[in-house]
Amino acid sequence: MQNTAKTALVIGAGPAGIEAALKIGQAGYSVILIEKEKQIGGMVGKLCSSFPRWENPQEMLDLKTRELGKFLSNITLLTNTTLKFCEPVEKGYLVILEDSDKELNVKVDAVVLATGFDLFDASVYGEYGYGIYPGVMDALEFENQLKDWSAHKSQTEAPGAIAFFKCVGSRDRSKGNPYCSKICCMYTAKQAGLVKELFPETKCYVFYMDYRSAGKGYEEFVRSVIEEKHVHYIRGRASKVLPQNNRLLVRAEDTLMGIPIEVEVDKVVLATGVIPRKETARLVEAFGINTDQYGFIESEFGSPAKAGKRVFFAGGCNFAIELPGAQYQGAAAAAEVINLFYQDEQEER
Ligand SMILES: Cc1cc2nc3c(=O)[nH]c(=O)nc-3n(C[C@H](O)[C@H](O)[C@H](O)COP(=O)(O)OP(=O)(O)OC[C@H]3O[C@@H](n4cnc5c(N)ncnc54)[C@H](O)[C@@H]3O)c2cc1C
Ligand code: SF4
Repeated sequence: MQNTAKTALVIGAGPAGIEAALKIGQAGYSVILIEKEKQIGGMVGKLCSSFPRWENPQEMLDLKTRELGKFLSNITLLTNTTLKFCEPVEKGYLVILEDSDKELNVKVDAVVLATGFDLFDASVYGEYGYGIYPGVMDALEFENQLKDWSAHKSQTEAPGAIAFFKCVGSRDRSKGNPYCSKICCMYTAKQAGLVKELFPETKCYVFYMDYRSAGKGYEEFVRSVIEEKHVHYIRGRASKVLPQNNRLLVRAEDTLMGIPIEVEVDKVVLATGVIPRKETARLVEAFGINTDQYGFIESEFGSPAKAGKRVFFAGGCNFAIELPGAQYQGAAAAAEVINLFYQDEQEER
């Protein structure tokens, strides 16, 4: 079913952008969904299980890909594609979209930005040895490691111990950002819990300043990882990682006990905080919309998914968000676009 000639451009095919495109397409409007990568799914395609229900993110992605497939008459999906140029015109934008060998000129009536967030560069914390010791990884690299271990468990030697450092690049005014990145307490609990699921004998230490678990089922999730999977939470910031006996020595202070501690581990996982994507800055400039002081897209007062004239946003380009939250925001942006198109049609009658 196609209602009108109205077209929305959705930029970014992660969970937020996919949800926005689906809802607009299902309402009968035309959608162009562009994704800069070869594959859709955004960060979710890189995750191994999802908090707080241990769901398989790939299954969710497969479901959404099937749903997109049902609405191909309304939704045009262009991968490996980015926005090259845009110019405001009456009730919309003229845009040029480009992939490696061609350009597409089209007029769109609304735009949804759903470009996601990036992760803080952990090498800023030289004392943790990220980029120097191969056993030190950031959180997304560790998701990939978990996928690999899950796929080849029988051929994998269980690691003796793993340390997780929280708040890397967040809540740190000297080296990182002052804000709390909101999702890393939860994904760290998930990752440590998955390690214990795969290798019950591996010791997992989580170094934390405090843990934040505000969300439906979140507190119960973290408690189950601590109490049922026996992950050790140690209050304190790790100060140094050093190579020792072909392993990694973690120096920290247990601030509850008031004593310095050292543990030898095989891997250190840095719960890197979220930052705005560089590409989003270019789009912000192109569409003349506002950001907060860090570069995350800001909403217009009183309109939670609107960023500017006929420009809406959803998901991690606004701030740290969990997968269901990104989908809610995608649906909210779609509702705004559908409402705008309906009003246009009323005026045009
Ligand atoms: C380590 C880690 C573990 C996590 N674990 C969980 C979990 O267990 N459960 C959970 O609920 N959430 C989890 N999350 C959060 C989850 O990944 C995010 O909520 C979700 O990915 C946000 O979706 P999004 O669509 O906003 O952004 P993304 O998933 O980042 O998608 C954005 C898309 O936009 C594309 N894009 C960017 N710029 C452009 C451009 N200029 N042109 C075209 N395309 C562009 C990107 O390539 C990407 O495909 C985790 C996050 C991390 C980092
Ligand atoms: S969510 Fe947790 S780990 Fe992430 S910055 Fe906030 S307190 Fe630190």
